[in-house]
Amino acid sequence: MSKQILITGGAGYIGSHTTVSLLEAGHEVVIIDNLSNSSIESINRIQLITGKSPIFIEGDIRDTDLLDRIFTKFNIEAVLHFAGLKAVGESVEDPIKYYSNNVCGSLSLFQAMAKADVFRLVFSSSATVYGEPDNMPISEDFLTGTPTNPYGKTKLVVEQIIADLVQADRRWSIASLRYFNPVGAHPSGLIGEDPQGIPNNLLPYISRVAIGELAELSVFGNDYATPDGTGIRDYIHVVDLAKGHLKSLHAIFHKTGMYIWNLGTGKGYSVLEMIAAFEKASGKSIAYRIAPRRAGDIAECWANPSKAAEELLWEAELGLDDMMIDTWRWQSSNPQGYDS
Ligand code: NAD
Ligand code: UDP
Repeated sequence: MSKQILITGGAGYIGSHTTVSLLEAGHEVVIIDNLSNSSIESINRIQLITGKSPIFIEGDIRDTDLLDRIFTKFNIEAVLHFAGLKAVGESVEDPIKYYSNNVCGSLSLFQAMAKADVFRLVFSSSATVYGEPDNMPISEDFLTGTPTNPYGKTKLVVEQIIADLVQADRRWSIASLRYFNPVGAHPSGLIGEDPQGIPNNLLPYISRVAIGELAELSVFGNDYATPDGTGIRDYIHVVDLAKGHLKSLHAIFHKTGMYIWNLGTGKGYSVLEMIAAFEKASGKSIAYRIAPRRAGDIAECWANPSKAAEELLWEAELGLDDMMIDTWRWQSSNPQGYDS
């Protein structure tokens, strides 16, 4: 009987790119997604890119009976867990929604996995669990901090649950991947980030200004202690991130315990540098104005990615130009995202 990898949230931005990587590497994939922040069209596009079809199940990971049926029907050997909500501002306004989706959803999944004797898991964590460290770059041995919003806290809580799981039962083998700032799109231009409503993140916002849908970008603060005063982040191409998942999945296959890896490039770029790089790639001029700092933002954040390089033999290969060119290809050929 063939074996499958279960991908929760596989219709979403990072999950769809990772599904492509897995299918291309010869894995069979089952996706569960409730489509609360994604479109079924992404599944069709995955098929167009790879010539292969993931099995798609529309449903919620909090539906424990559905999870039990999936684990009974398929021969799942590992789970990549992307499903969750990620809008920082919304998490402040509606924390229950975030704790329910991200924490209760993860618990429901872990319970169903244990019941089915499936103990391999790759979890989508975030650099937000580090809080506001004093030094850069950030290594995995930095203490976790206090995330400034409920979204970030859900990631930290799930990491703590995972640490308890591996203590309690030595059969678990779990990778927690702390992403820095995922950007870009598949080079085919067929899949990419498709945020609903007004984007919160920098690059989707810039892209919407470029296609004329939004008038101007607000640069949140130019008085940080950084070279040009604007915030610095470690932007990582989503295709590199997807490859990092494949390497992590293979790495945890024959060991047990909990493994934490930063997935970043190790390079930081400021908001103004990002605007300039996007303008160069797209040939569009981006209108912006300096606005007050956004509550909860930190000045700078970039990774020391050497642990993943040593232990996974994984390094980000794509640079800022690739990130911008691929973002623009996706945005300009799908101005309304998957509804285009
Ligand atoms: P996304 O919103 O595009 O994808 C998440 C997917 O999960 C969506 O398709 C959504 O419909 C689905 N989903 C949400 N709740 C669900 C539930 N209860 N049951 C079933 N499906 C559900 O987001 P993304 O950018 O692809 O992020 C994937 C994961 O990575 C998330 O857990 C996110 O918190 C984490 N992460 C993202 C970033 C980022 O900047 N994109 C950074 C760090 C961590
Ligand atoms: N940013 C900005 N204007 C925006 C969105 C973001 O100036 O409309 C800045 C933000 O202050 C931060 C950087 O861009 O310095 C990355 O923000 P994003 O929300 O994409 O990622 P995060 O803050 O979660 O790292």
